[in-house]
Amino acid sequence: MYAHQVPIYASSTYVFDNAEQGMRRFSGQEEGYIYSRWGNPTITEAEEKIVALETFGLGIEAKGILHSSGMAAISTLMLATLKPGDKILTHFSLYGGTNELVNKILPGFNITAIIEDLRDLNIAEGLLRADPAIKMLYLETPANPTIQCVDVEELSKLAKRYNCIVACDNTFATPYLQQPFKYDVDFVVHSTTKFLNGHGTAIGGILLGKDVELMKTKITKIHRTLGGNSNAFDAFLLIQGIKTLEIRMERHCHNALEVANYLETHAAVEKVNYAGLITHPDFYTALKQMKHPGPMLSFELKGGFQAGIDFMNKLKMCVRTVSLGTCDTLLSHPASMTHYSVPKEEKEKYGITNGLIRMNVGIENLQDIISDLNQALTA
Ligand SMILES: *Cc1c(COP(=O)(O)O)cnc(C)c1O
Repeated sequence: MYAHQVPIYASSTYVFDNAEQGMRRFSGQEEGYIYSRWGNPTITEAEEKIVALETFGLGIEAKGILHSSGMAAISTLMLATLKPGDKILTHFSLYGGTNELVNKILPGFNITAIIEDLRDLNIAEGLLRADPAIKMLYLETPANPTIQCVDVEELSKLAKRYNCIVACDNTFATPYLQQPFKYDVDFVVHSTTKFLNGHGTAIGGILLGKDVELMKTKITKIHRTLGGNSNAFDAFLLIQGIKTLEIRMERHCHNALEVANYLETHAAVEKVNYAGLITHPDFYTALKQMKHPGPMLSFELKGGFQAGIDFMNKLKMCVRTVSLGTCDTLLSHPASMTHYSVPKEEKEKYGITNGLIRMNVGIENLQDIISDLNQALTA
């Protein structure tokens, strides 16, 4: 008899049958569990499922290492693959934590970042050609909060020409909508906190690499030593969430496109940023590399900052919160929340206007979402 659901192996350590087995495990002659910072059966199950999704149909192998958070996975990636003097080339629309890591923490290790608009391939090529210290191209697409998309295939080709490793944060898209490994990317990272878990019940992250040998040796060693490991319960929640990934994403995407169309025609809305609208500057990039432009969008209210505050206060069903990737519709007002203390010029550069609202379109009944938005938009 064995359980239908993957058991939660809540154990910090594992018993050896005999002393010789302990020796074989420690010497690497035999695979098996030793200590849960190094690996745990529930965690392994979650890792294998995400690897299967990210490599599906591509005929490649990969290995995934689950982490305590998306940031822990990104930190392992950077610290395992870069050394002092190396530079990272990345697009300017980065997740806040990643931005902080590459701009404030890694420079202390003499690893610096060049942050540019990588939607312009000429800029990317010019930088790669001019600076051989660039060792990593780090992509995040689609990105916060204006849903900018960069061309993974073309950028990856360029990076390879200049011997650069390529990593892609696939959190917003999930492997259901986009598979970066298809474009010869070396590493994929996720905040599993978002759509992979799907229900907002746990923080987690994963680092996947298609050089399995490198993942099993150097990267595993760094992961185990830095200690950003996940745990059995969060891995269990993640496994439960992944079972409904396709059905959730289908519904999220369907609702998002309808909401974007609705918002575009509303008199109180100045502009809608959704990669599925032909008016979005990256419409064709999204079309090329994604199955669907996804569940995330943002929109600008004509009334500016106060209109943003008023709108947020009037919401009844949709949830006032940051984060994304849950079944529920979540809305945030960057100017008064996540980007409150960001200098004005920087906000402008990132497209964060005072009336901007970011939205994770949920899987609720579409009419319920639109009715709530409608009453909140009505003065
Ligand atoms: C949330 C998020 C992260 C960080 O993940 P945590 O699980 O919060 O550490 C990284 N990248 C993107 C795109 C995210 O949305």
